[in-house]
Amino acid sequence: MKPLVHLENVSYTFQTPLAETKALDRVSFSVEKGEFIAVVGPSGCGKSTLLNLIQGLYLPSSGTITFHHDTGEHSGCLTGYMLQQDQLLEWRTIYENVILGLEIQHKMTPQNLHAALELLKEYGLYDFKDQKPSSLSGGMRQRAALIRTLVLNPKLLLLDEPFSALDYQTRIRVSNDISSILRSRSSTAILVTHDLSEAISFGDRILIFTPRPGTVKQILCTDFSPSLTPLERRQEKEFKTYFNILWEELNTNAS
Ligand code: ADP
Ligand code: MG
Repeated sequence: MKPLVHLENVSYTFQTPLAETKALDRVSFSVEKGEFIAVVGPSGCGKSTLLNLIQGLYLPSSGTITFHHDTGEHSGCLTGYMLQQDQLLEWRTIYENVILGLEIQHKMTPQNLHAALELLKEYGLYDFKDQKPSSLSGGMRQRAALIRTLVLNPKLLLLDEPFSALDYQTRIRVSNDISSILRSRSSTAILVTHDLSEAISFGDRILIFTPRPGTVKQILCTDFSPSLTPLERRQEKEFKTYFNILWEELNTNAS
């Protein structure tokens, strides 16, 4: 079976009047349907640029990004984005925030609006649907942001350090929640994180990037039982081994 998306020798250079910055250099990898990929690498190595390229916001300077999907949709419609800031609009209720993408994409069908309400119920936010974002906790807000993304039925979720604004305990809980939601929907996802433990607890494969210009230095496959939650993965003895491998790779980079 073909992968959902394949990157072949993708490079990207930012051009500004004063300088050229090569952010990514010949990046190649595939993402299979249903797979969870984590991306780790030093700050500034091009991780956010990578997601912007996959999302179609930027075009590669060279190389190709190919989606294998039967709908023939543009990559922007196939992907859903979740960022560090939840970007909820304070003047709209949680429900109005959740349907924002549907509104923008002219997809406010009765079925889609019903699906939005069902997701709010399923993920424990139905009772808060008429409240404003400021009355929710950080974790609940991230869940609302996730629902806003899921309701558009993306084939690939791009998560750019979505938990890093949360405090440590909330972060572990919310990342556990969100990965369980995504696993139960057989979603496909790429998570960028600078937290090595988060990468191991989330990823089926972890892409380790070199410093800028970022390129894939190594791919580490994790081998946990599929039934384990991210939190349970943290208790496994392999967890520490993977942590040490990532640590070594990233610190060899640094020297
Ligand atoms: P990361 O997400 O890994 O921290 P980014 O993808 O944001 O890194 O950035 C990669 C490199 O590209 C950095 O050196 C950054 O300064 C540079 N960069 C990012 N965005 C721009 C831009 N709009 N114009 C010029 N350079 C940029
Ligand atoms: Mg970034």
